[in-house]
Amino acid sequence: MRAVMIGGGVGGCALAAALRGTPVGGVPVIVERRAAGAPAGMGFILMPNGLAALESIAPEFDWRTTGQRIDRVVLRTASGRVLSDHAIEPAVCVARARFLGMLRTAAGGAHFVQEAAFAGFVRNDDGRATAVTLEDGRCIEGDLFFGCDGAQSRTRAQLFPEARLGETVVKEVVSVAHAPALARQIGSAFHKFHDEEGGLAVGLLAESDERVVWFVQYDARRWPGVTVPGEALAGFVAERTRGWSLEVAAALAGTDFAHSHVWPTRDLHPLSSLAAGNVALVGDAAHACLPFTSQGANGALVDAAVLRDVLAEVRDARGAAAALALYSALRRPHHRRMFMEGRRLREAFLAPLSASAPAVPLVS
Ligand SMILES: Cc1cc2nc3c(=O)[nH]c(=O)nc-3n(C[C@H](O)[C@H](O)[C@H](O)COP(=O)(O)OP(=O)(O)OC[C@H]3O[C@@H](n4cnc5c(N)ncnc54)[C@H](O)[C@@H]3O)c2cc1C
Repeated sequence: MRAVMIGGGVGGCALAAALRGTPVGGVPVIVERRAAGAPAGMGFILMPNGLAALESIAPEFDWRTTGQRIDRVVLRTASGRVLSDHAIEPAVCVARARFLGMLRTAAGGAHFVQEAAFAGFVRNDDGRATAVTLEDGRCIEGDLFFGCDGAQSRTRAQLFPEARLGETVVKEVVSVAHAPALARQIGSAFHKFHDEEGGLAVGLLAESDERVVWFVQYDARRWPGVTVPGEALAGFVAERTRGWSLEVAAALAGTDFAHSHVWPTRDLHPLSSLAAGNVALVGDAAHACLPFTSQGANGALVDAAVLRDVLAEVRDARGAAAALALYSALRRPHHRRMFMEGRRLREAFLAPLSASAPAVPLVS
């Protein structure tokens, strides 16, 4: 049976790697809208559940040494005073481009169709999808289809037109600084600095000996902010963090704001199902969540590992549809929990420090 992945990001590549050696893992096709090698973000934290999924999907790589080990979370005030210091189960901060490159290698046998955007499905008389059509008119046949096309998923819009993304309350500026001294100083700790009034925070993590991934989360209702990378964004971030700790200033000083991202964070209201017939949703398409959980990429990796397990013994179309229904039943409770946790952590983030102590921004 031939699998077609719509979207070649974390979920699509992880799934192609996971399906190797299964009855649906022959030569999967990955349809990806972007050009090969196009910039694809900064970095993220591989949490214990994501690392365990990776180790089962692609054990040929040592995923724990792909980036900087993170084993502490230090919550601080804007000026740098330590509010709490927690040991955590080890996680890994990785550069997104390097990590995606490794996943693509793991998905090695897959056939990539780049710069090709999914447009819709071709269905047979009994409603089963038999092919995807692309915006350029091409058609790719398959037996099983996976919508791995991110938070704004077109696949999801076609399967579940009633699905709703939440509004953007918090925006996040994400960037990487070349800052070797700061990277050494923060080492294996994830530092998060909080404004006394709430609704504004800066996170710093070393991603290597030289580079620090940082983000500014802010209440977009108070500050509409700036959407385009460059000087205006640098000015906006400098204004919001004036007088903050020296570590924050060092990260900003080592940053080229032309390569920063502004992420209007949105979560997806839990779906009634993650599958319909022979089509399933994976990753953000199925369960876009707020950044406070750090579960976006990790959830996509676990989806891939679960799909591999449920599809391992499948031989025909009927068995495949049953396996996708099982995948949906297995994963929906997790997605529901991430939605609730994301919302809870967002409320804590928006509250002044006097009302509630800041929460550890990780959920596993
Ligand atoms: C700026 C930013 C920072 C983030 N930081 C973190 C973090 O720190 N920790 C964390 O865990 N997560 C983070 N995330 C979320 C994380 O990147 C996603 O949750 C994760 O990548 C989900 O994987 P995915 O495969 O579902 O989606 P993606 O990795 O986004 O992949 C979706 C792919 O589908 C492609 N696509 C979309 N539409 C089409 C179409 N019509 N046809 C063909 N291809 C299409 C896209 O080009 C993309 O390559 C961040 C996201 C962003 C945007």
